[in-house]
Amino acid sequence: MEESTDLQIQERKIRHLVILPLPFQGHINPMLQLATILHSKGFSITVIHTHSNSPNPSNFPNFNFEPIPDGLSDHQLWTEDPLTLVSILNDTCQAPFHDRLSRLLSDSRHGPVRCIITDELFHFTKAVADQLKLPRILLGTSSATCYATMSSLDFLQQNGLLSITDGQPDTLIPEIPPLRIKDIPDFSTTDPDTFERLGANALNAMMSALGYIMNTFDGLESTALKKVREDRYPIPLIAMGPLYKFSQGTSNSLLTQDYSCMAWLDKKAPQSVIYISFGSLASIDKTDLVEIAWGLVNSDQPFLWVVRPGSIRGHDWVKLPEGFEEKTRERGQIVKWSSQQEVLAHPSVGGFWTHNGWNSTLESICEGVPMLCSPYLWDQKVNARYVSHVWRVGIQLENGFERGEIEWAIRRLMVGTERDEMRERVGALKENAMCCIEKGGSSYESLESLIDLIMSF
Ligand code: UDP
Repeated sequence: MEESTDLQIQERKIRHLVILPLPFQGHINPMLQLATILHSKGFSITVIHTHSNSPNPSNFPNFNFEPIPDGLSDHQLWTEDPLTLVSILNDTCQAPFHDRLSRLLSDSRHGPVRCIITDELFHFTKAVADQLKLPRILLGTSSATCYATMSSLDFLQQNGLLSITDGQPDTLIPEIPPLRIKDIPDFSTTDPDTFERLGANALNAMMSALGYIMNTFDGLESTALKKVREDRYPIPLIAMGPLYKFSQGTSNSLLTQDYSCMAWLDKKAPQSVIYISFGSLASIDKTDLVEIAWGLVNSDQPFLWVVRPGSIRGHDWVKLPEGFEEKTRERGQIVKWSSQQEVLAHPSVGGFWTHNGWNSTLESICEGVPMLCSPYLWDQKVNARYVSHVWRVGIQLENGFERGEIEWAIRRLMVGTERDEMRERVGALKENAMCCIEKGGSSYESLESLIDLIMSF
C-alpha cells in the first residue's frame, strides 16, 4: 500500500467519521458503500459494528473496525423477526456504543470525530451523540416512495380523510394511487407494540439529526423526494443514490458469494436468463419451492436461481422435486448466494424475479433489467407496485406462487413486445441513474453537499 504523506495523515485525521450499520445485509450494503465513497473523498472511517452479522474487515483494509457486544444469541438471530431484533439492539447496543465511542474520542491515534453516521433505525444514537456532543447524520435504506406513502397514510388517517376504512385487499386507495389496500407496507412483528414504539423513537431521533441521506436518485423518485423533503424539513435531505454505482468493486456480503455462475452466464445468449433471488431475509414454504421449480421447468427459459440456506421455512435445505434436475440440467443453475450486482450487470441476464427489497429494486433498475415482483413484506409491496404500475418496468405475481401463473409471468417477462417495452423504459431509468451520478448530476451534487455539511461541523 502506498505510504501517506504527513500532510495527508493530518488532513485525514481531522476528517474522521464513525459509522454504525444496522446488522442486516440490506442495511450493511448501503452503509459500507457510503463509507467507501466518503473514504475515497479523504475521510478516515471507523466502523463500529455489532458482533452479530459483523462485516468482514479484510474487505476494507483502509477502515478501522471496532466490534461491540449486542447481547443477541444465535437462537435469537434466527428466530426473532427483524423488527423485534432492531428493537432489542436499540436497548442492548446503547451502553457498548457509548463506551466504544468515548474510548475512540480519547485515543490520540485517531483524529477528532467529525460526526457519526448511523442507520436511521438505531434511534439510541441520539442519546449517545447528545451526551458526547457529536453531530449525527442518518442513512435511510428504503425507497423515498415508501416513506412518502407512510407519511401520507398517517396524515390521512389522523385527519379522517382516508375514504377507505375497510375493504378487499385489491381495492384501490384513491388518495394514494396506484396503491391498493394490500400494498400498504406491512411491519407486523411478534409484539404488536414494537413497531409503534420503534417508529415513534426513530422519528424523534430523526428530528434532531443534522442530515438525512437516502439511497435513491432524482431521476427515479423526484415526486416522493419532494414529499419527504417537505415532511422532514428542516433536516437537509441528501438523495445520493445509487450508492453502489459510486463505490463499485467492494464486497459487503455476509454470505460467501458463488462466482461459478458468472462462467455459466458467459455461455448463455444475451438477455436470455431470468435471475431469481428473494434477498437475505425472505422465506418461503416448501410448497412454494415446488411451485417455483415447476414454473421454471414449464416456462422453458434459462434461469439462475439463488436458494439461500434457511430460506425454506422449517428446513435447512430441501430436495428439489424429482425430475427437476434432469429437465433443467441444460438451462438452469442453482447457487446458495450470488454476487448479485455483477449478475444483474451480466449481458445474459434479461429478467429478475425479486422480492423487491430496495437494494435489489435499485440494482435491477440501474442495470436495466425488468422485474417479476413477489414482494414479501415491509416496503417491498410499495416498491413492487411502483415497479409494475408507475415505472412500468416489471410485472407482479399477484397470487403467491402457483406454477401456471409463474410459467405465464416468466414468459411475459422474458419474451414478446411487452418485454421489449419494459426493457426500453428500464433502460431510460438506467440512463437517468448514470446522469445523476455524473459530475453536475443531482446525486453527484448531493455528495458534494454532504461533504460540505460534514466539514461545517
Ligand atoms: N444479494 C447478494 N447476493 C444474493 C442476493 C442478494 O449479494 O444472492 C445482495 C443484493 O445485491 C442486495 C442485498 O443483498 O444488495 C439485499 O438487499 P435488499 O434490500 O434487496 O433485500 P433484503 O435482503 O434486505 O431483504
